[in-house]
Amino acid sequence: MKLWYGFKNGHADGDRSMGHVLGGKGANLAEMCALGVPVPPGFTLPTALCARYRDAGGALDANVEGAIAEGLAFIEEDMQGPRFGDPAEPLLVSVRSGAQQSMPGMMDTVLNVGLTDATVEGLASVSGNRRFALDSYRRLIQMYGDVVCGVKREVLEEPLRSLKAEQGIALDRDLTEAHLEGLITELQSLFAAEVGEAFPQDPHEQLRQAVAAVFGSWQTKRAVVYRRLNKIPDEWGTAANIQAMVFGNYGADSATGVAFSRNPSTGVKAVLGEWLPNAQGEDVVAGIRTPGPVDKVSASGGESEVGALEDELPETYRSLLEVMARLETHFRDIQDIEFTVQAGTLYLLQTRSAKRTAASALRTAVEMVEEGLITRQEALRRVTPEQIDQLLHPQLDPEAPKTLLATGLPASPGAASGKVVISADQAEKLAEQGQELILVRHETSPEDIHGMHAAKGILTATGGMTSHAAVVARGMGRPCVAGCQGVNIVEKAGRILVQNGEQEYMLREGDEITIDGGTGAVYLGRVPTVQAELSNHFATFMGWADEQRALGVRANADTPRDAAVAVRLGAEGIGLCRTEHMFFAPDRIRAMRQMILSESEDDRRRALEKLGPMQRQDFEEIFQIMGERPVTIRLLDPPLHEFLPQSPEEIGAIAQDMGVSRQALRQKAESLHEFNPMLGHRGCRLSLSYPEIVEMQVRAVLEAACFVASEGGLVQPEIMVPLVMNPEELKRIRTRIEEIAEDVFARAGRSVAFLIGTMIELPRAALVADEIAEYADFFSYGTNDLTQTTMGLSRDDSGSFLTGYITHGVVPGDPFASIDRKGVGKLVEMGTELGRRARPALKVGICGEHGGDPSSIAFFAETGLDYVSCSPYRLPVARLAAAWAALEAEAKQ
Ligand code: PEP
Ligand code: MG
Repeated sequence: MKLWYGFKNGHADGDRSMGHVLGGKGANLAEMCALGVPVPPGFTLPTALCARYRDAGGALDANVEGAIAEGLAFIEEDMQGPRFGDPAEPLLVSVRSGAQQSMPGMMDTVLNVGLTDATVEGLASVSGNRRFALDSYRRLIQMYGDVVCGVKREVLEEPLRSLKAEQGIALDRDLTEAHLEGLITELQSLFAAEVGEAFPQDPHEQLRQAVAAVFGSWQTKRAVVYRRLNKIPDEWGTAANIQAMVFGNYGADSATGVAFSRNPSTGVKAVLGEWLPNAQGEDVVAGIRTPGPVDKVSASGGESEVGALEDELPETYRSLLEVMARLETHFRDIQDIEFTVQAGTLYLLQTRSAKRTAASALRTAVEMVEEGLITRQEALRRVTPEQIDQLLHPQLDPEAPKTLLATGLPASPGAASGKVVISADQAEKLAEQGQELILVRHETSPEDIHGMHAAKGILTATGGMTSHAAVVARGMGRPCVAGCQGVNIVEKAGRILVQNGEQEYMLREGDEITIDGGTGAVYLGRVPTVQAELSNHFATFMGWADEQRALGVRANADTPRDAAVAVRLGAEGIGLCRTEHMFFAPDRIRAMRQMILSESEDDRRRALEKLGPMQRQDFEEIFQIMGERPVTIRLLDPPLHEFLPQSPEEIGAIAQDMGVSRQALRQKAESLHEFNPMLGHRGCRLSLSYPEIVEMQVRAVLEAACFVASEGGLVQPEIMVPLVMNPEELKRIRTRIEEIAEDVFARAGRSVAFLIGTMIELPRAALVADEIAEYADFFSYGTNDLTQTTMGLSRDDSGSFLTGYITHGVVPGDPFASIDRKGVGKLVEMGTELGRRARPALKVGICGEHGGDPSSIAFFAETGLDYVSCSPYRLPVARLAAAWAALEAEAKQ
């Protein structure tokens, strides 16, 4: 096995395809170097060494020392002068982690490795800049203490903070040599007290320990949590990149910064970045200091102590734009870079594909196709179905009254309301109790990741658009307002003071606020939301998804209003209209209750006569809205007692309407009680016991269809029979439907073509699907009931133990959210196979909740279903997931 991979001066041992070996950072450093982008020389220790480190219980492989020595010699050869550990002219290195998939801020970095009491003097004299050498040394002691020895960052930051306070110094760069000398002495004794031994004076020992810390950081709690949230395999491990230091803290013409080639929040095609003069890399991302903007146009308007890079270092700014444009064209994606300027010379330290919001992902994907940078298929891959879902999330109602508390940076868009919480642990705890929370922090650090995930939104007092909070929030799709300077958290008192001009507000934990991550605004209380506006980019993108997919996409829609939303969001039909939902409106439930509580068929028919015209009216409207698209209408399904009156007042009112005693009515209601209603008198069993209900519903459907057709409209009704377990049930109901249809068409003097099909939602139906198919023009899998009945898990009651099952890995996930391929999925495959064997033209769809779940959609596409049907707001998600399934199938061929 190759133990190290070098990169320097236009040549590299690896390239960007080697992310699994070199990690994303190492692979892209190699690629940039080969491209001729200015990158300091270095080498990468591959990810396999991280796995060995872990397998050996946290010990470096015996060969690592030799690999490091060779790698250092490789760098020294390129640098022609400085040597690692040389007290006269020392080479310093950075040690950075980098996994195959970037995990921003999750793992460790140590800068300025190689400085000791002896080498710091060498660096001072070679550079002619003693202040810089001392500043680098104090940084190393702080960072090494934190990352390698596990001393809390705040503890080692304290001497610097109190020195600045004592001396009345606002900015680090105003510290003098004398200050820094004193600080180093103080930090060294603090280090010795905290760690139990002196700060190491052997540069090689420092380097070995830093590499070990980087490999070890793969196992930290925050990295483990991040991997779980982002489904990154534990086996991957991180690489370690060892690279010659370039110094952003060298003087006034030196700087450090981060930048995006396009806006990761909105997708606007303009460089967006932040920088700090005379500072080192971590200062910007850590969010401790508020940096200045790279570009004067994109300056956020916040009060920044630093001007735009464009004004301060115009040459550097131009080189930066040029390099970023080259990188974007080469990598064909938005790049997120880290740069350092040492005495006017620009170096790139990292490039990676930027984490972006849903809005940015969509906009850049569409614009990059228009620019000829990527294909439509690639564009489809650049936006996940989950991101499409986010785009459909509500925004703050512009009309609603609001009290503005403060304004910060719009770091991750979307609106969120919740109770203020100021600790990540507390956020996690309260979220488990179902509370909606906004995590408010001075700054967030990677330790807060679990709290950020638990919260609905994040608000920080410091930090910029590229701070940890901003990057992580965008990656998670959580709204975030960062760098909100009016916010002051008094942690011990559990209070937050907010200064907005003259006004001062005091919030306590538990008070509600609303944040708008798209504008940076923070409001008092809960602000109502409205549905998001969809952009032209959205329409274009979804059009490409539709071109790509083979699977049809329909909606579950019960009312004309749902149907209108469904059409707007791209439904090709209605896959499930649950007719019972039409009966819950106040003017209908009474007639429905009368029908259920009737003792005789005659009484039932009388009640049904009231319901018939209302159903017909609904169907007419739905047919008109859906036009030529098919509309699947399901006959009454739920157990009847679901409609029964509960309160004595309701029972009294119905008894009066029906002219019977309360006592008789109560007895009738009790007689309908079932111990296990989900397996009881429901579904097609109702149709067989009460044929008059079928008659009313079928008449309503077909009369509405005839009426719409008579007005010149196109209609494609499909009548669906629920909960069938054997062919006999369907045969009888089908015969009845056909008789009614004949009568309706005779009376109307016209006929319309319609289909009769069934739901497959009981295991037995799937097992005898060939026999059932004899009487069915189509099947639609009711995977909610099919999951319930196959797994013996109640849809309504299993939550209590299922959550534990999922957390402890007894089942891989919630089978009601994502289909259980091995069991329930096998029935879907079998039913489809058998059904089509008996009736080759059989249309097969699915209308359970799984129809809106991307991973289940992939399965249904593979199984050869004709369409999925999902709730209207999931339609765009389903359309994209279906396109992904087609891309996947194409790739396999
Ligand atoms: C199903 O069971 O999957 C289904 C769509 O029907 P319902 O949810 O109405 O029982
Ligand atoms: Mg069902």
